[in-house]
Amino acid sequence: MNTLKLSTYISETEIQKKVKDIAGKLNQTFKNKPVVVICVLKGSFMFYSDLIRNLDLELQCEFFGVSSYHGNTTSSGEVKVTLDLTYPVEDKNLILVEDIVDTGLTMNYLKASMLSRKPKSLTTVSLLEKPDALKVPCEVDHVGFKIPNDFVVGYGLDYQGYYRNLPYIAQVQDLQ
Ligand code: 5GP
Repeated sequence: MNTLKLSTYISETEIQKKVKDIAGKLNQTFKNKPVVVICVLKGSFMFYSDLIRNLDLELQCEFFGVSSYHGNTTSSGEVKVTLDLTYPVEDKNLILVEDIVDTGLTMNYLKASMLSRKPKSLTTVSLLEKPDALKVPCEVDHVGFKIPNDFVVGYGLDYQGYYRNLPYIAQVQDLQ
């Protein structure tokens, strides 16, 4: 792969501050209530692991895999489940953790899939949202940063499988 030209878009410090803000709100909402926190793979793994380390709650971790980009930089609009939850979540308080809401199709699919399992409650969190890219109305309870409709990588987000390990979010300057 050719090395891409990246420019820092959201720094590690800004991200960590936002993680603490969101965790603080969740800690208040779910005080004394057990929760199941769901990591949407692959893109949210880094945000998720930072977030849960800031949650002071009785929590269980679960993982749900979906693929919607298939290695490209535009959403296919087709959501494929690559890994299902490992146990029933009926009557549980679910916190669903996503990396980014672009067209909104994946988040709406995830919400429908979780609600079909009849949880006690469903709270959605996304680190990023691109309001100008939404193709369908999509309500998210906690959004970290609203960003322009540009392709970003890092902090879990990839380009063809690369750059997920960056501790910050970067814009790709020379994408075709
Ligand atoms: P949506 O269904 O909202 O269009 O797409 C959501 C998924 O597309 C996200 O979970 C993420 O995996 C991917 N995605 C959307 N925008 C970007 C982006 O700017 N960069 C990267 N790396 N992935 C993105």
